This record gives sequence, structure tokens and C-alpha cells, in this order.
Amino acid sequence: MHVELTEDRVLTFVVYNTRSHTKEPFETIEDGVVRMYNCGPTVYNRQHIGNFRSFLFADILRRWLEYLGYEVRQVMNITDVGHLLHDADEGEDKIEAQARREETDPKQISEGYTRDFLADLEALGFREAEIYPRATDHIPEMLEIIQALIEKGYAYQVGGNVYYDVSKFERYGELSGNRVEDLEAGARIEVNTEKRHPADFALWKCDPKHLMKWDTVLGADGFPGWHIECSAMARKHLGDQIDIHTGGEDNVFPHHECEIAQSEAFTGKTFASYWMHAKFLQVDGGKMSKSLGNVYTLDDIEERGFSERALRYSLIRGHYRQPLNFTWSILKESESALAKLDDLVVRVQESVEAGGESVADSTSRDREILDAARDKFEAALNDDLAMPQALAALFEFRTAIEKEPLGAEAAADALAFLERVHGVLGVLEFERDELDGGTVAEIEKLVAARTAARDAKDWGGADRIRDQLLEMGITLEDSADGVTWRR
Ligand code: AMP
Ligand code: ZN
Repeated sequence: MHVELTEDRVLTFVVYNTRSHTKEPFETIEDGVVRMYNCGPTVYNRQHIGNFRSFLFADILRRWLEYLGYEVRQVMNITDVGHLLHDADEGEDKIEAQARREETDPKQISEGYTRDFLADLEALGFREAEIYPRATDHIPEMLEIIQALIEKGYAYQVGGNVYYDVSKFERYGELSGNRVEDLEAGARIEVNTEKRHPADFALWKCDPKHLMKWDTVLGADGFPGWHIECSAMARKHLGDQIDIHTGGEDNVFPHHECEIAQSEAFTGKTFASYWMHAKFLQVDGGKMSKSLGNVYTLDDIEERGFSERALRYSLIRGHYRQPLNFTWSILKESESALAKLDDLVVRVQESVEAGGESVADSTSRDREILDAARDKFEAALNDDLAMPQALAALFEFRTAIEKEPLGAEAAADALAFLERVHGVLGVLEFERDELDGGTVAEIEKLVAARTAARDAKDWGGADRIRDQLLEMGITLEDSADGVTWRR
């Protein structure tokens, strides 16, 4: 479907589909409506900023689809049972293991961390999904699929356990590029001798030691496998066929590969038209892991004095298919970038307020720079959400109007455009009194005046300006390369 942005410009959104390994034009099953399922958190601990990179990618995708005029039906699940340690078929449930550590019960763990998760989403400016379904509320829906898969010969029962026979599903491996033969060779040391093939995966497990369990036709003391949960929840809330399914890069295999095998064998239809995955957030060039002590949550970011807005910007500013390296200096850079965007908004607002009398009427030059900014911004995001280029369009726009302000009429259109930009990025500020300090131009003027005072050895004058800046919430750092400032 082509979406009309304005009367004279028709643009097409192109996305990278992990399943086809190529960029494809985006088309929905139902005209104008997008059904999107995002794999959500396993609620056994506070989500870290890496998790939020993946979720923010989904948020930006949803916002961009809305900018294009689609109605987006977004579902993000909450995994509160069945996700075992190491994403495996054997071993302890992540939530139960945490309950043991915190000496409480699994329900307390999942409810507490779900609350934290939803609060973090709000703090980071997420648009709310239509629903955040919990796996434990969908056991009958999972059983329906599991029983049908047994009847159709895709799954087999060994005692109370049910496994999916990967050799029965021809397209197994299409998403991840894994071949069943290679998986089998790699899994020779598999301890589970019940499986027909080492690459088979569990749909349902019986384990008396497991705390969360259900008494069902498949046997007593059972609980679902992690993958079947998402097949069942997506179907319940969005139907047999959806447009987009997202997750982090680690979800490609085994999680999403297994979801495809389950859903498509069950319905006989293509499950999701587009599979999209965000690359991981790394820390100082390496893995984020508890043992390295570099797993950060929103609280850690705030403790260091950075805002949620700066974190949101840091996590969305790269391309979602490029790994992103997190350092504390990125948060500082993001603050400077946000100060520039705030300045852009203020400049445009000032031009609107100046009205037709004091500012020259909008000229074709004004139209040209506004159209160039909008075209570049839209073309970038239409190209598989190329965020760095989209942001560059905004900074170039600021540079252009810094040289010469817009006329009032073009400024009004520019303000409307920036409000739509905010609808996509969720990081702009339109209320002047929400801004810390002054505009970038005001601040830079004071910084230059202080440097001039110092050059003239007027130390008292230089200190007074530094204090004035401090009152505006601006700190200065002097170095051999000159002065830098931050809010
Ligand atoms: P989990 O709670 O482990 O199920 O993870 C929730 C989501 O966060 C999944 O979509 C993961 O792919 C994603 N995720 C986990 N670690 C990272 C990371 N370092 N960077 C980006 N996404 C991540
Ligand atoms: Zn999932």
C-alpha cells in the first residue's frame, strides 16, 4: 500500500525482513491497519537499557507507521512462565529461580517486575500498546494449538511432555538460516533422550519440581514451553496472520524459528509477513552482563544525573540493525543533541510569534528548506527506519534557519512538521519553561563572552558569566581544545 503523505508526495515504506533476508516494500493484510506483535520481557528482573533498545525500536516502528497514516494494533506480551534458564528446554524457570533467590513466590516476582516494566515504559515515553497479555492467562489457547499439532502429526507426546518434531516442518530454519542437520550435529550431547531428534523443542513439560503448573488433558503438573506462548497470544489478540513480528536479535533462534513452525503448521498460513529484529546494545564494546557489572537500569541512569529523555534519545539515535555501543559519553552527546533540537523548536516558535510584520513574508527559500528537511526525514525513515539520516535532516534544518530565520507563514508549517516529528521520536519539548537554561544561541553567546573576558584577563567578569550560566543549569568544562558546555 502506498501512503499519501501530502497531496503531491506518495512514499513507500521499505523494511528489512529477517525471513527473506532482504528489504521489501511494506504492505498490510488489511488496508490501513497494521497488526504487530512484539516479544515482550520475561519478568524475572528489572529490564535493563539493552532490553529497552529492542522495545524502543518497536515503539519507533509503531510511531512511524502512525505517521504514515496506519492504524496500528500493537500487542506486547509479558512472559511470566516457561522461559527456562539459557533459553533451553531443560533447567529452572527464570522466574522460579528468582523467586528462590528473593525467598518469595513466582507470582510476587512476575507481578512486581511487570509493574516496574510498565512504569519504565511510561518514564521512557512509550506509546501504550493495545494490550500486554500475560502467558499465564493463556494456557487454554496454548493447549488448543498443542493438541492440534499432536493430531496433525507435528508433535508427539512422551509421558506428560510434548515435543515438536522439527523434521516434519519443511521450512524450519528459514528464518535463522540454521539447517536441521547442523543443529542435530551440534546437539549430540543433548541429555534429553526422549526427543526423536536433538533439535526438537518442548511445547509442554511436566515436572513436579516446577512451581507454576497446570493440571490438563496432557497430564498433571505441566507448564508451557516459552515459544508456544507467543504463538498462542499473537493468535488470540491479533488473529492467525499478522503483519509484523519483532524482537531482539537473540529472538531469531530458537524463539521465532519455533513460533513459525508452531503457528504455520497449526493454521496452514503464513504467520507474520515481516520479521524485524533489533541488534543488541553493547557496553564499552562488549556484552552487557551481570558478572561484568555493566547491566544498567533506568535508576542507574538517573543516579548519574541523566534524564530519561537523554536515555531515550541515546537508544533510538542509531540504526536499529546496527549494534549500538553504550558509553556514558553517549548520554552527554545526546544531551547536546537534544539542546540543539530544543533550540530548533524555539527558533521556529520565535519566528511564528514574530508574525508577519517583523519577519519578511515566507519566501521560496523558506519553502525549499522546509521541504528539504521534511523530504529527507521521511525518505530516511521510509528506508527501513534509517534514524541517523532522519536526525541529520533535523540538524541541517536548524543550521539553515540559524543563518536566516523563517518567515512567519513557513514557520507555522515548520512547527506543525516538528510536532509530527515529535510524534515519531517522542523526545522534543514544546513548552519553553520545560527547557533547562536558554536556547543554544543564548548559551553560546554567553560562553563566547566569557572566553573574551578571559582572553582580556578579566577574571572577575569571566567568573560572573560562569555563575550566570550555572544558574541557567549550564556547566562549563575547560580543556586544551577550548570550552564545552552541558546542561
Ligand atoms: P528477555 O526479558 O530476556 O526475554 O528480553 C526481552 C527483550 O530484550 C528481548 O526481545 C531480547 O531480545 C531483548 N534484549 C535482551 N538483551 C538485549 C540487549 N543487550 N540489547 C538489545 N536487546 C536486548
Ligand atoms: Zn515471544
